[in-house]
Amino acid sequence: MKQFDSPIMVTRPLMPKLDHYKANLEEIWESQWLSNGGAQHVGLEKALKDYIIAPNLSLFNNGTIALMTAIQSLRLQGEVITTPFTFPATTHVLAWNDITPVFCDIDPVRLTIDPTKIERHITAKTTAILGVHVYGIPCHVEEIQNIADRHGLKVIYDAAHAFTTTLNGVPIADFGDISMFSFHPTKLFHTGEGGALVYNDTNLKQRIEYLKNFGIKSEEEVILPGINGKMGELQAAMGLNVLPLVRSEQAKRSKIRSLYSELLSDIEGITILKVPEGTTNSEQYFCIRVHQHSFGESRDDVYGRLRLYNVMARKYFYPLISDYPCYSSLSSARSENLQEAKSAAAEVLCLPLYGALVYSDISQIVEIILSKKK
Ligand SMILES: *Cc1c(COP(=O)(O)O)cnc(C)c1O
Repeated sequence: MKQFDSPIMVTRPLMPKLDHYKANLEEIWESQWLSNGGAQHVGLEKALKDYIIAPNLSLFNNGTIALMTAIQSLRLQGEVITTPFTFPATTHVLAWNDITPVFCDIDPVRLTIDPTKIERHITAKTTAILGVHVYGIPCHVEEIQNIADRHGLKVIYDAAHAFTTTLNGVPIADFGDISMFSFHPTKLFHTGEGGALVYNDTNLKQRIEYLKNFGIKSEEEVILPGINGKMGELQAAMGLNVLPLVRSEQAKRSKIRSLYSELLSDIEGITILKVPEGTTNSEQYFCIRVHQHSFGESRDDVYGRLRLYNVMARKYFYPLISDYPCYSSLSSARSENLQEAKSAAAEVLCLPLYGALVYSDISQIVEIILSKKK
């Protein structure tokens, strides 16, 4: 079995042709306008609204600040019920807004927040549910909305992995009050760094725009304590050049997913995470679950061997957020409360997924995964 000559990362950023980017840079140089809603920003906002069919979309300098702003725009406080099986940013934005995160366990199949366990966490202080469409797998959006409606709660989604995802033909950001997308380079569509909020309520637009620009209304009026969440022109120009590459990258990744699935199906102790019926796959990640008992090795064994052969698979999301020292003393962080999340964190492994991988790469990666078993 051969080692890869250079590291195979879990993903690779889409890189537009430099000449194409230069053409936008020339426009920027010509205009001498580098931020605060210039032509590139206007162009990207419109292009993205059309692309993902968003009624309202606000661009941000990154997804984390976008999520911070979403919470501010809905004036959330007190407690927010959320998942521990996610990237640190999801929970940190609550902490930065002086909100107590309340961890709810996840659905053992989808790995998104389990709607049957949400209500037991609702108290007089609860103001919202913050779900994550983890790996682009949609949350149980209908059930979550029903709970929110019954208890008068807001719903926010971290849709960082769900760019272009639809559920029964409906764009994913149609669900909930606000959805956040991240345009970090590890994400399928990116702007170098960047993010966006998408929301149905047009009344939110003005407040979100003030919040992301220091609360400035006019030269002499600052009407609320805003932050700097603006996306600059260089980022927006990157996005305008990356967007046309998304479809063909998704098609390539979809083929790679099928290859992996073929080679890894019928392997005892390995399951492949699938998006549910009626969902379009964002092709953000390809993840497997290694069941130590039946596979004969743990996820960490497989992860370690892949590393030896220069394959940088990732343990998203280990450790659980609820195990970070800053959250582990919360009562909702107790292990008994989070059994499914615990086992997902111990078993899931994200394998390399990007368009430039070829058949021999995939078969070699699978061979490394299975080599202990032969
Ligand atoms: C990437 C990511 C974020 C953070 O987005 P940034 O644009 O890097 O700030 C938040 N949540 C999830 C689930 C992510 O994967």
